[in-house]
Amino acid sequence: MGIWILNAAVVTADNTQTTKHILVEGGIIEKIAEGAAPDTAGHTAIDAQGKLLTPGLIDMHVHLREPGFEHKETIATGTRSAARGGFTTIACMPNTRPVIDTVETVKYVLDKAETEGIVRVLPYGCITKNELGRELTDFDALKAAGVIGYTDDGVGVQSAQMMKDAMAKAASIGMPIIAHCEDNTLVEGAAVSEGEFARKNGLKGIPNESEAIHVGRDILLAEATGVHYHVCHVSTEQSVRLIRHAKQFGIKVTAEVCPHHLILSDEDIPGMDANWKMNPPLRTPRDVQACIEGLLDGTIDIVVTDHAPHSEEEKARGMALAPFGIVGFETAFPLLYTKFVATGQWTLQFLVDKMTKLPAEVFGLPWGKLEVGAAADLTLIDLETEKAVDPAEFASKGRNTPFTGWKLKGWPALTIMEGKVVWSE
Ligand SMILES: [Zn+2]
Repeated sequence: MGIWILNAAVVTADNTQTTKHILVEGGIIEKIAEGAAPDTAGHTAIDAQGKLLTPGLIDMHVHLREPGFEHKETIATGTRSAARGGFTTIACMPNTRPVIDTVETVKYVLDKAETEGIVRVLPYGCITKNELGRELTDFDALKAAGVIGYTDDGVGVQSAQMMKDAMAKAASIGMPIIAHCEDNTLVEGAAVSEGEFARKNGLKGIPNESEAIHVGRDILLAEATGVHYHVCHVSTEQSVRLIRHAKQFGIKVTAEVCPHHLILSDEDIPGMDANWKMNPPLRTPRDVQACIEGLLDGTIDIVVTDHAPHSEEEKARGMALAPFGIVGFETAFPLLYTKFVATGQWTLQFLVDKMTKLPAEVFGLPWGKLEVGAAADLTLIDLETEKAVDPAEFASKGRNTPFTGWKLKGWPALTIMEGKVVWSE
């Protein structure tokens, strides 16, 4: 028995919307029909009238916190949060405890995802053992165990030689390097960006160069080694400029940006509230504008959430002491839809592609497609109902968001992974 999704609005390449009926069976999209509703006898029917149907959303940068930080999030709660946000494929960062730098830890995460997770989890492995920047992990063994790339996310790889060795090795086995770009010598002890907020509150700031120096260095190393180099959470005008320039030279670089870096600047921070503290930090309005322009002209390839849950107690330690990070799964699509699509700045197709088709293309994944024979990873989205962000409703253990109370449209209503309904509002 399959599922017929009837009367769904599907957005096509030229941004027009057409009504389609989709039969999901055996985990794949079996049929796509137009016109009069088909006979659904023998199948479950879901009326999607008035809702948008997209491929399941893909998020290539998330923190599931397991193993080691289960008080912040688990693979069970994190994948539920993802499903509630419309995501069916998520790629998790290895800065857990232990970090994902051995075959055993990769297997642990994949097993947990299989038994307790409800969406597809793709793990990254560390570049260096313990993310200490001193010794490369066993790239071949990690690849064989199932990682999709290497990253020391959470910290930058400080040594250029170490990064070059990592890139050369990754290139030789056809794997990407995913980089958290941050030069530690420029950020010592800072919690927020260098800018208005830091000045007003007498805080030490994190300068834009701390990110862009690594972006520039790594682009040169990527050119020298031929690796696919992917830049994490771009937040500065300088990084956008460097990546744009590198792409013009045909260097194999791709990049991602988070919703908060497209929507908020340091001038929006209301006070010493750590729900506004993340790394990279909120930058200046000029940086926000550069990230938007970079996304629009293709310099930045994809949108990711950098979903980073923390406990309330941890976030209550204040701006200086609280850990960096905000949750992202359950607000990502509504935020971007409301801010950029509903206001006519972006087409709906543009936003959907940046969260489905393009992440799949950048990482060579088979998902993110709405076509016959493709995996039945599907998301139904209500574009009409306006609702305020209420962290108490989150499926995530994390409540750490700066968007509490924001009135948004574009809420995911139903998520299907491989033909199974994994979330229904
Ligand atoms: Zn990071």
